[in-house]
Amino acid sequence: MPLSPNFGERRGGLRPEFVVIHYTAMESCAAAAARLCDRESEVSAHYLIDYDGAVHALVPEEARAWHAGAGLWRGLEDMNSRSIGVELANDGFEPFAAAQMAALETLLAEIMVRWGIGPAGVIGHSDMAPGRKGDPGARFDWKRLARAGLSVWPSSAVGQGDPAAFAGAAQRFGYPPVADEALLAAFRLRFRPWAKGPLDAVDAALAQDLAACFGPASSFGPASSFDIDQDGQEA
Ligand SMILES: [Zn+2]
Repeated sequence: MPLSPNFGERRGGLRPEFVVIHYTAMESCAAAAARLCDRESEVSAHYLIDYDGAVHALVPEEARAWHAGAGLWRGLEDMNSRSIGVELANDGFEPFAAAQMAALETLLAEIMVRWGIGPAGVIGHSDMAPGRKGDPGARFDWKRLARAGLSVWPSSAVGQGDPAAFAGAAQRFGYPPVADEALLAAFRLRFRPWAKGPLDAVDAALAQDLAACFGPASSFGPASSFDIDQDGQEA
């Protein structure tokens, strides 16, 4: 498979600190590969993983691939310069193949060691672009990745939270400051895809747990630039 021509230099000397997971939303892996390698498409990713687990390296990890587009995570812009993009061949509706997930786990572990990326740095495209992107979608098994130390998942014993604190907590975990509905949809897509109805105390509890464990005040998160009190409110 040819390397994609669609890449450039990472800007400002940035290094990968995140991995962004995508699905291709195309009818076949070959069609996705053709698009990711077509100069006219102006899109690419570092890796494309086929249904059978074959890993195609399209752009060198050192380079800036064009997969993330507009969006933010932890308030950081230019996610293409800050991340490695992994595309999973999937039409957007079907379950992810077992061999494909196994290959993803192996690849993620290697990338995370190479670049010193922790589990909280592995995110979905929908996380950094709520309302604009929905991949890797509700069928993607984030819990499985978290169990393998390749992403994060909230504690199972979180109880009830304060819905008024949801947006602040979700943003401290990393989500961009978007409209409430888009934020809730993106959050549930990853952490509670079976949930329906308005924002509730469980959404809030999950977000507050994630913010506490992986947000800026945690030992796993980035350095804090603001104070956070016991209720999770910004001071
Ligand atoms: Zn995507």
